[in-house]
Amino acid sequence: KYHKVLEENCKLYNQVQDLKGNIRVYCRIRPFMPGKPNHLSTVEDLDERTITILTSSKYGKEGRKSFTFNKVFGPSASQEEVFSDTQPLIRSVLDGYNVCIFAYGQTGSGKTHTMTGPSELTKESVGVNFRALSDLFLISDQRKDSIAYDVSVQMIEIYNEQVRDLLVMDGGLNRRLEIRNNTQNGVNVPDANLVPVTSTSDVINLMNLGQKNRAVGSTAMNVRSSRSHSCLTVHVQGRYVTSGTVVRGCMHLVDLAGSERVDKSEAVGDRLKEAQHINKSLSALGDVISSLAQKQSHVPYRNSKLTQLLQDSLGGQAKTLMFVHISPEPDTLGETISTLKFAERVSTVELGSARVNKESAGVKELKQQIASLKVALARKE
Ligand code: ADP
Ligand code: MG
Repeated sequence: KYHKVLEENCKLYNQVQDLKGNIRVYCRIRPFMPGKPNHLSTVEDLDERTITILTSSKYGKEGRKSFTFNKVFGPSASQEEVFSDTQPLIRSVLDGYNVCIFAYGQTGSGKTHTMTGPSELTKESVGVNFRALSDLFLISDQRKDSIAYDVSVQMIEIYNEQVRDLLVMDGGLNRRLEIRNNTQNGVNVPDANLVPVTSTSDVINLMNLGQKNRAVGSTAMNVRSSRSHSCLTVHVQGRYVTSGTVVRGCMHLVDLAGSERVDKSEAVGDRLKEAQHINKSLSALGDVISSLAQKQSHVPYRNSKLTQLLQDSLGGQAKTLMFVHISPEPDTLGETISTLKFAERVSTVELGSARVNKESAGVKELKQQIASLKVALARKE
């Protein structure tokens, strides 16, 4: 029995260590839309880690470009497959790490499909948000004899550099919020409604409420949702029953605004303003990631609301996963290439290795358990 527990603990510990401090990038290619011409794909070839794009119809080497990522998911990959490698991240939230999962890509490339799912949700079609939460509850339930977990969620939108609460309406608008830095327990939007949840259906109800509020607060839901970032944040607090040690972790699940560059000569008024804000925040995100990659002492988190919001979950101890989405249609080739270039820049980042990583309370606890199990085992033998 001791052997088994020890083995389990060591496995868990190694998994957690293994994930430490780098940004993973998974690339997903959307299938052709039903009823649309589908004989010409910009994706010439793909395998588990590499994708080759036809950059021109010219044959030969110069008409192709390959990109390598931690994982590539083709158009037929299921929601389950796409989520399967994300499970260790969910465990680490319960061990006191901060985790950030992004969906990046141009409008229509499948970000919301990956994070939430299609408009008609079924057990098979639900996205990362739902699967992450249901894993979280499942694992916390398995551990309930030794650790008591409290889970609560916030749902926030960033639109034109304003942070709004998707769970609270104020006079027909989503309530405006401020981001605070230097807060304890990782809650840096203290005024956002923080709702305790005990099951995935609680979370689904909140997500539906958030979607409804988002639609009410804006005139055209589709336009708005592609022009703003939405972030579902899950805060977890666990208390070890015997030692009383408390671990806190949080997970941001972010559906980013469409990354397409808006043609400056065409955009006017609101569209131009939105485009400028999106460009600003996505490039701020890129800059933060680059400076983390170069291990610069100053990381420019304060250049956008998005990076401020995620400050505790990017860099250092945090674990970051970016799902990068591309469309297969030739008419979006330009955006596809710039998306892949951005993703390539992100995937070269190795975070945290230069710093002495402070161990989370959860990992300390695991180490202690491993040590005492070893002692107990030695006594037995
Ligand atoms: P985005 O959020 O990036 O703007 P969506 O997730 O809304 O894009 O996807 C655009 C359309 O394509 C939606 O109708 C969606 O259901 C469909 N779609 C996206 N990805 C997939 C996929 N992997 N499989 C099937 N349909 C998809
Ligand atoms: Mg979307």
